[in-house]
Amino acid sequence: MKETICTIPINDIFNLHDGCPFCRMYEMLENQYATFITGSAMMEPNTRVATNKKGFCPRHFEKIVEVGKRLPVALILETHLAQISDGILPKKAGKPDKKALAKVDEIIESCYICDRIQFDIEHFLQTVFAEWVNSPEFKETYKNQDFICLRHYSQVMKYASVKMPSKHLSAFHEDTLHLTRNYLETLQADTTHFCRMFDYRNQGGDWGNSKDAIERDISFLSGYLDTSVN
Ligand SMILES: [Zn+2]
Ligand SMILES: [Zn+2]
Repeated sequence: MKETICTIPINDIFNLHDGCPFCRMYEMLENQYATFITGSAMMEPNTRVATNKKGFCPRHFEKIVEVGKRLPVALILETHLAQISDGILPKKAGKPDKKALAKVDEIIESCYICDRIQFDIEHFLQTVFAEWVNSPEFKETYKNQDFICLRHYSQVMKYASVKMPSKHLSAFHEDTLHLTRNYLETLQADTTHFCRMFDYRNQGGDWGNSKDAIERDISFLSGYLDTSVN
């Protein structure tokens, strides 16, 4: 895949201290791609070939409709549908061909934006690891993030094991685990408090930080800042 068309300002993302930094990056990238696809790249042949072939996951279909104008979105869909009609869905009735069905499944499962983001995230993570190793300031900034969501915890830990120099690995793993575990424990306490507030004995009591516990739980578990998009 060719170089990313998106810019990933690592310091801007990590200096925000608001939620999971990797979720912020993910959301920034999906907005950039959705805007790019429905804007300047709409008539660009390479991008169209790729979007025709891969289509989008449910989240990113919603995203292109949200950020794009109606006509560009319809034009993208027009050629995507043509690709399915001409090359994927059988023209004649009969016993379903396994290969043909596999092709249908493939196009349902694939997403142009998810693929591009996956590619970018790997590059971004390598930058994060390099900064963490070389810059004591960044190390501190990393440690002081609000949290790392469960989805990105797994992704970061796995990728670090492959790409991070081994002498730094256990300290990095430890910092990352702290960010995820501390927040998980906060969520557990807030969620329990939220549930207890429904007990009649607690009527008129203090909700503390528990009012948006459900939304924060889902955001932590799903790895998406904006859980309403899903
Ligand atoms: Zn995240
Ligand atoms: Zn997607």
